[in-house]
Amino acid sequence: MREAAAAFVRDVVRPAVAGWDEAGSYPREAAAASGLTGLFCPTALGGAGIGYPAGMEVFEELGRGDAAFAFSLSMHNAVAAVVAGCDDEELRARWAADLVAGRALGGFSLTEPHAGSDATAITTRARADGGGWRVTGRKAWVSLAGEADLFLVVCKTAGGPGHADVAVLAVDRRAEGVSFPRLYRKAASAFLPIGEMALADAPGTMLVPPGA
Ligand SMILES: Cc1cc2nc3c(=O)[nH]c(=O)nc-3n(C[C@H](O)[C@H](O)[C@H](O)COP(=O)(O)OP(=O)(O)OC[C@H]3O[C@@H](n4cnc5c(N)ncnc54)[C@H](O)[C@@H]3O)c2cc1C
Repeated sequence: MREAAAAFVRDVVRPAVAGWDEAGSYPREAAAASGLTGLFCPTALGGAGIGYPAGMEVFEELGRGDAAFAFSLSMHNAVAAVVAGCDDEELRARWAADLVAGRALGGFSLTEPHAGSDATAITTRARADGGGWRVTGRKAWVSLAGEADLFLVVCKTAGGPGHADVAVLAVDRRAEGVSFPRLYRKAASAFLPIGEMALADAPGTMLVPPGA
């Protein structure tokens, strides 16, 4: 996989990255064609089935081409691995194969305007709604904002202090109540959108319940 990543960097990333920046749009086709979108997922799903240490070598190689592109794929791969390995059959059936193939992109929303390193200070809340969940809050510094198709959103279920009620829900970017009100202007990597994500009673699927 390391050699495949090196070849991808040599043949695709290096020649194209200046153009990606100029266009200011995320290179979804290149990401999907890389063969590096299901690194930690089972081979039965089309993934590479490698472990995290081997994955780090792949990202190191990708980083020689472009750090922001490597970062986006590392985040996507983490999301794909969680979804492919989750217990929710419906979520797996809807998303796992698409994430592994790079037809869908994964994003991760933890940070909030007032909560960075101190992740337990997040105030985004998930509330039970019938058999499902609804999420309300505002996330900051979300990479692939408006671009990724499925976000793993870190929330609290009770709003108490500490991490006891912290949970992770999967939220479809196209679901009602999901918006991306602000993209940041950055000094570099114009192709990677980073910004805020707003959730207004948006439907989500519980992936990692509190205490898990
Ligand atoms: C390019 C980029 C992409 C990102 N993408 C994502 C993403 O996709 N999803 C997401 O959820 N987040 C993302 N983030 C947010 C990132 O995870 C946060 O920036 C990070 O958690 C730090 O939070 P902060 O910026 O609020 O810094 P702060 O928490 O305010 O920290 C500022 C400084 O203070 C230090 N510090 C903080 N607390 C302490 C302490 N108790 N003792 C000593 N020192 C301390 C820190 O080490 C740091 O140097 C991204 C950030 C960047 C820059």
